[in-house]
Amino acid sequence: MPTFDTVYINVINAQNSDLDFGMVIRVRLHRDSIESVKSLLRKFAEVLRGDGRFSFHMRSISRLGGPNDDRIHPVDDGVVEEVREYARSLGLKLLELSLPYICYASWLNSLVIMPDGTLSKCTVRLYENINRVGKLNDDGTLTIDENKLLWWARGIINNDLKAAACPAFSKEGYEAIKWLI
Ligand code: SF4
Repeated sequence: MPTFDTVYINVINAQNSDLDFGMVIRVRLHRDSIESVKSLLRKFAEVLRGDGRFSFHMRSISRLGGPNDDRIHPVDDGVVEEVREYARSLGLKLLELSLPYICYASWLNSLVIMPDGTLSKCTVRLYENINRVGKLNDDGTLTIDENKLLWWARGIINNDLKAAACPAFSKEGYEAIKWLI
């Protein structure tokens, strides 16, 4: 099944449940994708409008230094705000980030579950050793590498806002993890 269909069906199944949760749907904007994003928002609005468990996080796509950077066309803040306003007009809830920004990778209770059950923290440095912090076991329990988990949370633990905003790329962070990568 195509990836979008899988994700969309999972969202709809979650919406049909009585479970108490919060789900953020993150939408990255590219110069050439604005109209298709608006179409996507209309599709979601048909089912998610008025359900406070779901919120949308709109951001421009980013150039992260890979070989295809020249094919990536970010949009400016004005375009992001226009699409946010469009989502609002459809009755969708928007994620309001509190400041100072703290990346989810910094929170001890935030984990990414990879398809093979590996637990990660950062959604950018996906394949690095430091980002493999544990495993979701078959019986539902978690095996966690505590040292790695604490490394990701060091910004919060040490009250270091720079590291908390991006524990993967803050300079002192990179120096600290070189031995682990
Ligand atoms: S740690 Fe940095 S690169 Fe990773 S998800 Fe957070 S902000 Fe993005």
